[in-house]
Amino acid sequence: MLVGFPHVPPCSLCLRFLTATVAAPLHPDAFLAQRATMVRTQLEERGIRDQRVLGAMFAVPRHEFVSEEFQAEAYEDHPLPIGSDQTISQPYIVAVMLQHLALQPTDRALEVGTGSGYATALLSRLCAEVYSVERHPELADFAKSALDRLGYSNVTIKVADGSQGFPESAPFDAILVSAATPAMPPALLVQLREGGRLVAPVGFSASQQLQLIRRVGGGVEVRELEGCRFVPLIEGAVPL
Ligand code: SAH
Repeated sequence: MLVGFPHVPPCSLCLRFLTATVAAPLHPDAFLAQRATMVRTQLEERGIRDQRVLGAMFAVPRHEFVSEEFQAEAYEDHPLPIGSDQTISQPYIVAVMLQHLALQPTDRALEVGTGSGYATALLSRLCAEVYSVERHPELADFAKSALDRLGYSNVTIKVADGSQGFPESAPFDAILVSAATPAMPPALLVQLREGGRLVAPVGFSASQQLQLIRRVGGGVEVRELEGCRFVPLIEGAVPL
């Protein structure tokens, strides 16, 4: 029987997860009902259908990836500041990108632009191994401590220019680029294995398009997805 979650909406997926959660009432999550509402109204009702993505979005505590002053807004339908002039992405666009990556539990994934570590945590639940690159050391530190605290142990984060990828751990089945670039860095395409998928915002700051790139037969197939707005991918030396 479900007890103690009077505001949880009737979403079958969330109810399944809640049923499992009720067995461990010693660690109540004050944001559980908000997260259930986010999954239902921002994701399911807007067409996200991948059950593994929906399950991960319900499981990952987004409020743990923002500073205390923004925790109350953590499940709202927009990006939030995370310091260093960067943002944690809107939940919906993260779900869209993950759904297009069609992730398998055995996949090795690369993320460019760790930021808060939120999408890293989602990738961690959906893949076998996650490699993530962030150019701001203080964001990488914040993400590492949140991921460690929450027990996401299949993640490796490094501070570097992510446009160079993570050559020492390539090739990857999936690459998630969380910052916008007018042209896809060649190193990322090289590090995608045959059959691998890459999702990235492509374009300049005012006008960007999400692209799904598949590596097939030694070449690449590009599919244009929806419009989006991300912070820019800054190539070159990382800040000290
Ligand atoms: N998925 C993250 C998105 C953060 S915003 C989240 O939801 O929190 C994009 C991130 O990309 C920022 O943290 C920014 O510092 C980082 N970034 C921009 N250019 C980069 C580069 N060349 N290499 C690595 N990270 C980069």
